Amino acid sequence: MRVERLDAQLLRFPMLASHRDQPDAQMEVLLATVHAGDHWGLGLTFSVQPGGGVAVRALVEHVLRPLVVGQNAYHTERIWAAMYQATHRLGRGIAALAIAAIDMALWDLKARVAGVPLADYLGGCRDRVLAYGSGRSSHQFDVSELVAQARAQRAEGLDGVKIRVGARPLAEDLARVRAVREALGPDARLMVDANERYTLSDALWLAPRLAELGVYWFEEPLDAEHVDAYALLARQSPVPIAVGEHLQSRHAFAAYARQGAAHILQPDVAMLGGVTEFLKIAAVADAAGLPIAPHFLHQFHIHLAAAIPNSLIVEHFPALDFLFLPEERCEVREGYMLVPRRPGFGLTPRPEAVAEYRVP
Ligand code: MG
Repeated sequence: MRVERLDAQLLRFPMLASHRDQPDAQMEVLLATVHAGDHWGLGLTFSVQPGGGVAVRALVEHVLRPLVVGQNAYHTERIWAAMYQATHRLGRGIAALAIAAIDMALWDLKARVAGVPLADYLGGCRDRVLAYGSGRSSHQFDVSELVAQARAQRAEGLDGVKIRVGARPLAEDLARVRAVREALGPDARLMVDANERYTLSDALWLAPRLAELGVYWFEEPLDAEHVDAYALLARQSPVPIAVGEHLQSRHAFAAYARQGAAHILQPDVAMLGGVTEFLKIAAVADAAGLPIAPHFLHQFHIHLAAAIPNSLIVEHFPALDFLFLPEERCEVREGYMLVPRRPGFGLTPRPEAVAEYRVP
């Protein structure tokens, strides 16, 4: 099965109010579609930094497309290696984003041709995965809005809720976490995400206090490049440390695993080079006894989390729901997200959304 065409469409749209720090924050999404005969496959990557998507599109169109078109679509490992080598001197960065969108599209195509969900195509460990609510906790919310959002997500059947910290004084953030814990009761999973905003000393101060509130994990307290500092923190923290959404290769995850620098790994398939690399990262984590809780993109990650033995939970983050057909939304029931039964990722871009947000 030869790849006959690779299309790249860039979309730019305002970020949801619940997940932005500036009122005019925008997000860019690059949709990559591969075509082979009557079949097609869809992959995607994203940037919350303006211009990132434009740069990714340029890489796809000028550097990667010639390496993909004409190739056997089943040879995802070979195509991945060619894309890696062609961009190695650029560093991982946006190269890993561009490779991700194409690699995801190729895997989607293969599973669509086989007529099975990607989760099944990859080996199928389970039919549903625990899911927690995310992406609805702005720093700009006051405590009552924060609590209302958390309660709403629990009411929708999600197993837990994540809230963001790190933009206010430590004691104030701690009070916000406490208010949400009191509202949810002692049994709901409650995750806290600092988006790399703390120093090691802040994180060491906060970790035992979060543990007292029964926080399930403390996410990205520090810049994810600082693996040594994470190792110091993870050794002392009574609350599990989660990290990974900014890491872009199996080597970066292996460094965390070797150093015991995290308790939960959070790879993002669209950030780290696609399905091919994600599966290797899951194996690296498994060998170290570490669970995988993928970052963002539940529409895509539900299939990967269902296909690996060491997945923990998926992040239900509704920011991109509007891009796909409404009937394709992932179903959540009694704390779990169900694996969709449509072939591939089972996602179709909604034509109205593409028309409205397309960047020429
Ligand atoms: Mg995060």
